[in-house]
Amino acid sequence: MNFFCRILGHTWTPVTDNPKISWNTNDEGLVLTARPAGEVRFYDECLRCRERREVQVKRRVPAPSAK
Ligand SMILES: [Zn+2]
Repeated sequence: MNFFCRILGHTWTPVTDNPKISWNTNDEGLVLTARPAGEVRFYDECLRCRERREVQVKRRVPAPSAK
C-alpha cells in the first residue's frame, strides 16, 4: 500500500470498465450491429496506489422482454 494511502486513506475516483463491443452482421449479412460483450462494471480506483474496489450499483430490475 502507498505510504500516503496508509496515513491519509485512499483517494477513490470512480472508474467504469466498458465492455468490448462485438461486431456482428445481421441475418442478411449486410448490416453491422454492435453488441456489448458484457456488462459495464463500476468501481473506484485509488489515484495513488491504483487499488480498486467494487462499487455496489443498485440496478433497476430489467423489464421483461416482449418476446
Ligand atoms: Zn491508495
